[in-house]
Amino acid sequence: MGKKTGFMEYDRKNMIERNPEDRIKDWDEYKDRLPDAQVQLQGARCMDCSIPYCSMGMSIEGETTGCPVYNLIPEWNDLVYRGQWKEALERLLKTNNFPEFTGRVCPAPCEGSCTVAISSDAVSIKNIERTIIDKGFENGWIKPVIPVKRTGKKVAVIGSGPAGLAAADQLNQAGHSVTIYERSDRAGGLLTYGIPTMKLDKSVVQRRIDLLEKSGISFVLNTEIGVDILAKDIENEFDSVIICTGSTKPIDFPLPGRRLKGIHFAMDYLTNATKKVLDDFPGSPDLDAKGKNVIIIGSGDTGADCVATALRQGAKTVRQFARSLQFPFKREELNEWPAYPKVFTLEYGHEEANELYGKDIREYQIHTLDFIGTNDGHVKGLHTKRAKKIPDKARRIFVYEDIPDSEEEWEADLILLAIGFNGPEKNVLKSFGIDMEEDLIRADYGKFKTSKNCVYAAGDARRGQSLIVWAINEGREVACEVDRFLMGKTTLPSVLTV
Ligand SMILES: Cc1cc2nc3c(=O)[nH]c(=O)nc-3n(C[C@H](O)[C@H](O)[C@H](O)COP(=O)(O)OP(=O)(O)OC[C@H]3O[C@@H](n4cnc5c(N)ncnc54)[C@H](O)[C@@H]3O)c2cc1C
Ligand code: SF4
Repeated sequence: MGKKTGFMEYDRKNMIERNPEDRIKDWDEYKDRLPDAQVQLQGARCMDCSIPYCSMGMSIEGETTGCPVYNLIPEWNDLVYRGQWKEALERLLKTNNFPEFTGRVCPAPCEGSCTVAISSDAVSIKNIERTIIDKGFENGWIKPVIPVKRTGKKVAVIGSGPAGLAAADQLNQAGHSVTIYERSDRAGGLLTYGIPTMKLDKSVVQRRIDLLEKSGISFVLNTEIGVDILAKDIENEFDSVIICTGSTKPIDFPLPGRRLKGIHFAMDYLTNATKKVLDDFPGSPDLDAKGKNVIIIGSGDTGADCVATALRQGAKTVRQFARSLQFPFKREELNEWPAYPKVFTLEYGHEEANELYGKDIREYQIHTLDFIGTNDGHVKGLHTKRAKKIPDKARRIFVYEDIPDSEEEWEADLILLAIGFNGPEKNVLKSFGIDMEEDLIRADYGKFKTSKNCVYAAGDARRGQSLIVWAINEGREVACEVDRFLMGKTTLPSVLTV
């Protein structure tokens, strides 16, 4: 272990965050690394407790706790403390294909289950992970991995998000020839068009895509499978297919007035914003927040990304509506370690809004009733009521109970719906003729096999909207299964055999 007394001697230090007032003036990443010497002391805080829940991704009460790719966290903490950065990188790359993504945007379920967090602040694992990989790139230690021998087998991966990229990376390393098909003009899935640039700079994503290309993976962009190329043609050309098309079908809100202009899905808004930043692209004025009163419906991370984007576009006001109650400031009794801590946090966009407006812009326990429009059919606001979530003990579910006299009217010229996703889009799945289970592709975790021979599925299209680290886990695991299918055995690493 690093330093026996490290966790008592040193306080947790987070990454450097740029001042909210300054950072909303540009689209650059808002977080930066600490100096190396300070990160080494953060590594020294690891107790090497011998029960590293941090390393073992699992689900407790429906929430992820621990690291889903089983990162060897105590091992690299120790190496970082000793200044052995290259060795730390080698350990990190054993389990995680893309630490530059997780080190920037993973919600770090590892930290909630860190043993130090029982009595103090968790080891800043994500910060250490990001520093190891960034130093790896800076020092030229990250190189394309070109397989020595090719097997002659061909695999098609549909969708270039983290699940598809991880599967392709693993299968290419096993010697198979992999082609990734992507309907967008850029690869990366939600890493590119989803997560905003100030959280994950797109040059970081492109750097990885370039590396994968140099390693021998082919990318075919602007090509929608099921539309531009039919499933049967893919099946004829390849020995195996992996569907990694994500869970991108947004949940709608069919309330009166929903068809008014100015009401959009969050993902359309975020994609338009990112394209404007990246390209010489004017974007749709209807999808721009400049000078507008913006209301975001939905309390999750997508909503928080919309807040930060609207502030950068120069919105007049921004509000975010949540049906839930505000989380408590400390873990509640039923939310014990090592479960993911359900506590109040200020996301980056909320910090920025606090700075600008002097208060939390979130409204809790609020339910939209209808949207109000102008005579020419544009939205001008909405009506709401407040309701409490209470347990219905007989039916073992939660129900909402109206709070009397809580109706309100709010002004808004841009309303963004960020209330979740309903699984993958169906065109491509129909084209392959594979079975669905509720709204997702039917393919068991661990096997990843769909109802059709040779066709596998992984990532959000199979498990529903989740996390990048889970997408990487599924990409790695499906690669093992496809390799076994093609070769009769596999030597690719799997967390399922740990
Ligand atoms: C706004 C937003 C912010 C998020 N922020 C975070 C975060 O900070 N941290 C985190 O861990 N997770 C975050 N997530 C979740 C995370 O991005 C996803 O869980 C992850 O990207 C899923 O990876 P995937 O590869 O399964 O699918 P995706 O990333 O969705 O990629 C699927 C790809 O398939 C392509 N595709 C679909 N159909 C076809 C077709 N027929 N032919 C060809 N291509 C097709 C799509 O264009 C897309 O590029 C966020 C999600 C959203 C929506
Ligand atoms: S990938 Fe996420 S959960 Fe795993 S070590 Fe990194 S920050 Fe923690």
